[in-house]
Amino acid sequence: MSTAKIRTRYAPSPTGKMHVGNLRSALYEFLIAKHDGGDFMLRIEDTDQERFVEGAIDIIYRTLEKTGLKHDEGPDKDGGYGPYIQSERMKTGIYMKYAKELIDKGEAYYCFCDKERLASLKTEVVDGKEISFYDKHCLGLSKEEIEANLAAGKPFVIRQNIPNEGSTTFTDELYGDITVENSEMDDMILIKSDGYPTYNFANVVDDHTMNITHVVRGNEYLSSSPKYQRLYDAFGWQSPVYVHLPLITDENHKKLSKRSGHSSFEDLIDQGFVTEAVVNYIALLGWSPEDNREIFTLDELIKEFDYHRISKSPAVFDIVKLRWMNGEYIKAMDFDKFYEMAEPYLKQAITKDLDLKKIAAMVKTRIEVFPDICEMVDFFEELPEYDTEMYVHKKMKTDKESSLAVLKDLKGILEAHDDYTNDSLYELLQGYAAEHEYKNGYVLWPVRTAVSGKQMTPAGATEIMEVIGKEETLNRIEKAIQMLG
Ligand code: GLU
Repeated sequence: MSTAKIRTRYAPSPTGKMHVGNLRSALYEFLIAKHDGGDFMLRIEDTDQERFVEGAIDIIYRTLEKTGLKHDEGPDKDGGYGPYIQSERMKTGIYMKYAKELIDKGEAYYCFCDKERLASLKTEVVDGKEISFYDKHCLGLSKEEIEANLAAGKPFVIRQNIPNEGSTTFTDELYGDITVENSEMDDMILIKSDGYPTYNFANVVDDHTMNITHVVRGNEYLSSSPKYQRLYDAFGWQSPVYVHLPLITDENHKKLSKRSGHSSFEDLIDQGFVTEAVVNYIALLGWSPEDNREIFTLDELIKEFDYHRISKSPAVFDIVKLRWMNGEYIKAMDFDKFYEMAEPYLKQAITKDLDLKKIAAMVKTRIEVFPDICEMVDFFEELPEYDTEMYVHKKMKTDKESSLAVLKDLKGILEAHDDYTNDSLYELLQGYAAEHEYKNGYVLWPVRTAVSGKQMTPAGATEIMEVIGKEETLNRIEKAIQMLG
């Protein structure tokens, strides 16, 4: 490797949502560049016009912006290496120019075979997929035949000419040297009949002409990489450092797919995950620091990230772990930001005029994702139906009978009391317990059950009473007395 400034690129195809695997590639490319003060570039790979999805480019911009993976160069930010969109690069004639250079060198050739002929070729099953190997038929065409075909406007593709003998070696930073017999490689198409380059050709031409030093991508590209290496060699270009990333699987060790329900960044955000937590979690899908630390800001990742520590084993996307991590981010979040994100969920569960900020403070340290809020606070809105068995608590030494006695006693006391602040109510209930030589729990358990109707609440009895107020507290206690009586 030269000592040139590090330049990495994120090269998404605009085909829809931002898959977790794509975001991981973008993140690692960003981190490799920023770790060394290099440049991170965005290149849009839209040469497969059939897979193009309207709006997908906007998703890419939005996601990079939201996640903080700021690109130094891209379609919207010229750095002198543009155009940054492959369909626009094509119009400059760059791919055709290089393809013709390969033809001149004998490393590529025109192919005029029609669909019928291609369909009649022998097929082989490789990795479960049926692949047909082109038989080099058009390599035998004479110069005159080729020129006549071109002049007649006959549709063509340009194929890479891979010899049947020998082998090709390619180096990946994680996988080391990979050697493939040339006879096992198909003469892949470089330029398609619509004039567009294939990904296979464009990625090589672009990475070279855009001075890319490090390429990070999913290991599904590993098997094609020897072909790319042959292209670099044919041009006499130095290939970039390659880092192929391990597969991301779901909990069942199957490739993470839409079916999991959380395979894209947008899915995760819609499910109430915090952007920073998602980025942090994705950083750990295949990478870990020496000390196994887990919580990182983006700046900390920039400092710590070392691509040599990326693992080759598949990374399991563990939603339970992400939920935990998200909870940690929520706990650490400043309250105003938290409230802003929590408010829609609070309002979904609570329509009454209650102090939502107070309720938000109760749940902040208890939720893992924002939608958890709804179920946690719904009792503020309306007392749920509940079972009187909930009054029986071994540790608190309470049962239905003791609870009924305590609540009956307290009803009058609470009616006479006017200061419904948490502190005052707590003092009142504690004073009552002390007076009767009861443990606090013996009193607080039945009260909390009566005012919430829930086994688990995000706050204690008196905090709940403060929020729902005197009238509602007394109604709920009366209801409990009736149920227990
Ligand atoms: N356009 C390719 C993709 O989205 C990029 C692969 C690469 O990074 O080279 O999968």
